[in-house]
Amino acid sequence: MIRDRYRALEESVRMASGGRTRVLLAVKHQPPQAVLEALMAGATLLGHNIIQQLSSSEEALAELAAPPHDTHVIGHVQSNKARAAVTYAGTIQTVDSLKTARRLSTVCRDLSLERGIMIQVNSSGAQSQFGLDPADVPALADQIRALPGLTFTGLMTIGANTDDIAAVRASFATTHKLSDQLRAEGHGCRELSMGMSNDWRIAVDEGSTMIRVGRQVFGERPA
Ligand SMILES: *Cc1c(COP(=O)(O)O)cnc(C)c1O
Repeated sequence: MIRDRYRALEESVRMASGGRTRVLLAVKHQPPQAVLEALMAGATLLGHNIIQQLSSSEEALAELAAPPHDTHVIGHVQSNKARAAVTYAGTIQTVDSLKTARRLSTVCRDLSLERGIMIQVNSSGAQSQFGLDPADVPALADQIRALPGLTFTGLMTIGANTDDIAAVRASFATTHKLSDQLRAEGHGCRELSMGMSNDWRIAVDEGSTMIRVGRQVFGERPA
C-alpha cells in the first residue's frame, strides 16, 4: 500500500514537474517499518519534525539495514536539540534566526560536520507560523554564508494555510521570487521546499524543487 502510493505519487510529480521536483517524505509519527517500506519502494528523501523521532527512527532504520537516504529536519529546532539534529540529518530546512544558525554552526564545528541549511520563510504573513519575513531573508543568508560548518542551499515554506488557492499560490510565488533574488546576489539557492499533500500541485507550478508529503503516502497519521 505504502509502496503503491509512493510510486504513484512519484510518477505524478515527475509528470507534473518534468523531473524538476523531488519528493521528500514527511515521516513524523510513522513506525520504522512504514518508513522502511517507503525506502524499499524507492524513496530517498525523508523529513522529520520532531528531533527525538529523528534520532530513534534513524537508529532503527540503521538496524534494519535500510537503503541509503538523505534525511532533513523540517520542524522547528530548539537550541538544546541542535546537536541531535546535525548528527542525524544532512540538511536543516527550518532555520529562521541568526541565533539558531550560530548554534548549528557551533555543533557542526564540534562534531566536524558540514550541513546544508535552508531558511524557513513565512510567506503567508500568518503570525502563528514559524519562518522569517521575506524582507529579512537576504541578510540571514549573508550571515549564514560566513558561518563555518554550514552551507546555505535554499528556502523552505509552509505557505498559506487556507482553501483560497490564489492565496496559496501567492505565498509560493513570493518564495520563488525571493530565491531568484538570492541567486542573483550570488547565493547557491537551488532548493525550494514547498508543497504538501493538499497543495503540492500548486507548489510545483510555482517552481518547487522538493515537495514534502506525509498523508498522501502513509494515510492519516497514527496518534
Ligand atoms: C507533516 C508535514 C508535512 C506533510 O504534510 P501532509 O499533509 O502529511 O502531506 C510537510 N511539511 C511539514 C513541515 C510537516 O510538518
